[in-house]
Amino acid sequence: MRLILIFIFTFFALMSFSADLSGPWIKTKSHRITLYTRPKNYSKTVSPDSTAIRNILKEQEKVIDYINEALKTDFQSNVRIYLLNYDEAKAKIGTNGGGFCSPNKPRIYFTYYNLQFHNTIRNEYEYIGVHEMVHLIAKYELGMPNSRFFGEGYANAVEGNYGSKMIDGHYVKTRNDSTLQKLRTKGKILTPSQLLYNDSIKEREYYPQIGCFINWLFKQYGVEKINQLYTLEKDQIENGFNRVTGETFITIEKKYMKSINL
Ligand SMILES: [Zn+2]
Repeated sequence: MRLILIFIFTFFALMSFSADLSGPWIKTKSHRITLYTRPKNYSKTVSPDSTAIRNILKEQEKVIDYINEALKTDFQSNVRIYLLNYDEAKAKIGTNGGGFCSPNKPRIYFTYYNLQFHNTIRNEYEYIGVHEMVHLIAKYELGMPNSRFFGEGYANAVEGNYGSKMIDGHYVKTRNDSTLQKLRTKGKILTPSQLLYNDSIKEREYYPQIGCFINWLFKQYGVEKINQLYTLEKDQIENGFNRVTGETFITIEKKYMKSINL
């Protein structure tokens, strides 16, 4: 099953890739989303039909509300989502393992899989999910991130999942908290300092762990305080924590490691 392997490494951040968006497209709008999909029989893999289009629009409208609630933001602008068919996505947007959010426009480029993934945190079946929309909303509401720590941290914290597995004939997203438990038994847990300073950690280890840590910060200190740190450069982040929480990064790190029984 080729699909299974692909979805283990899903949700690439390909910020520098410039997407090839040549038509034809079918354009469908809802309140804040304009969705661009391929017409029927456009390529060898399936294009979304009218039911899928309706469900994707509904999904992403709810995703915006979900993120606004999680981040205490009020993003209400229009977002363009370009959904490329699976067999063209790699050549046109640089990946068919998810997609990415445009660095300078309110746009998401994503692969259409003709199936939904069960997100057990939201208890919703998703085509596109939460991750890329978090990048987009955070950028417009909080500013441009200047660290992987917060940029990917926020996307993975609110998404809450990384990768997926086929269970009983449908795809279920793998929760970051369960990945953390597995990594703990393997002795592969990274400290917050490692998450902040080591830029060479592989995505599949980094994303679930930074997601869990940032999520813990939201619960421990309140998202409004952590939002004030979102745009900081890496070398300003420790000072930033001290300023908004009144605690040193070392203290925060000790508390977090204790919270996950380490
Ligand atoms: Zn990302």
